[in-house]
Amino acid sequence: MNSLGNALGIYISVPFCRSKCTYCNFASGVFPSSYMGQYVDRVIEDLRAAAAWDLTMPRLVDSIYLGGGTPSLLPPELLKALFSSIREQFQVSDAAEITVECAPGQLADDALAAMLDCGVNRISFGVQSFIDQEAKASGRLHTRAIALEDIRRVQQVGVQRINADLIAGLPHQTAASWSESLAVLVNSGVDHASVYMLEVDDDSRLGREVLNGGARYFAPAIPSDDAIADMYVEAVDVLAQHGLEQYEISNFARGGAASLHNKRYWLRKPYLGLGVDAHSMLHSATGEPVRFAATDDLESYLAAPGWDERRILSLQEELEEAWFLGLRLCDGVSLRELECEFGMDVAEGSRLIVKELIGDGLLEMRGDRILLTSRGRMLSNNVFERFLSLGEVVV
Ligand code: SF4
Repeated sequence: MNSLGNALGIYISVPFCRSKCTYCNFASGVFPSSYMGQYVDRVIEDLRAAAAWDLTMPRLVDSIYLGGGTPSLLPPELLKALFSSIREQFQVSDAAEITVECAPGQLADDALAAMLDCGVNRISFGVQSFIDQEAKASGRLHTRAIALEDIRRVQQVGVQRINADLIAGLPHQTAASWSESLAVLVNSGVDHASVYMLEVDDDSRLGREVLNGGARYFAPAIPSDDAIADMYVEAVDVLAQHGLEQYEISNFARGGAASLHNKRYWLRKPYLGLGVDAHSMLHSATGEPVRFAATDDLESYLAAPGWDERRILSLQEELEEAWFLGLRLCDGVSLRELECEFGMDVAEGSRLIVKELIGDGLLEMRGDRILLTSRGRMLSNNVFERFLSLGEVVV
């Protein structure tokens, strides 16, 4: 078992942004910066409360992730207060992976210096596109030059582990402009890339425009579904050609640079989430997996401490998660490990679905492991749905 099994990951959401991107469906917004101090105080209160919970929680932390939102907007003293509090309540491993998400052009020198003082060793840039027209149309505030300059600054101060996010399907994107974004990314020297396909739902302004009509956010300039699928396939090929091997549906890394923290989610290892809309996966005193989340509304979060109801997963739900989270990883799911964890009888129940999906060309078997095929990765949501059924126990 790797170190993810007996250590904890901590995720802290920081929901403050300088502008709201048109495609964004996260619980983030342009809130007054005067809320930041109050917000960090609340997160610190939660950290202290969590350390005393009656749940099984490793004290050793080997990954910390500040996401958002735009955590790089926090003033240095608040960043330091957050990290000091984590270190007061938990033991942070010397080798811990500590990531902060940054928006290009929104990483001040003093914030970067504070991050280094706090032990941050990985920076994730929400680039989304290296084409200025696409970035601007999506509400991003950076240009390609600014994004590349930020990557260079971070490399220069000694942070080697850098991620850049790209989105396939932004308004105005074409096959040629996508190839250009990919080329700029591989030449920037980052060791990790996340490539997402645009999500269309009514939680973002652009998504609503796609569903309801209009052109204010350039919905008519979104590439077709087929074009977006081709962009994804191209990303897998081009990134691999340049040493960024795919290790998960949306994630690519040079040897050894896969994100430890993100792997927790897919391997169902424990993590504590703090802040607006942060989710946690821990274990009860008797070892059952427990999931819960904080409110996704900033005002409510500031007003009152608390999380939603803790939900203990049934064995059936655990098995479903083992499939639909594990299959996201290119290594897939080991049948032997599944049988060890759940017992022959329970794991046996999945065999029929697996057989059908192999027949449909969506899964394949390699040794004792079941993996998504490349077609299965394109249709992953359909595959995951096949493993889902209802039935939850509330405690
Ligand atoms: S995409 Fe990122 S930077 Fe843009 S609004 Fe959403 S959280 Fe903020």
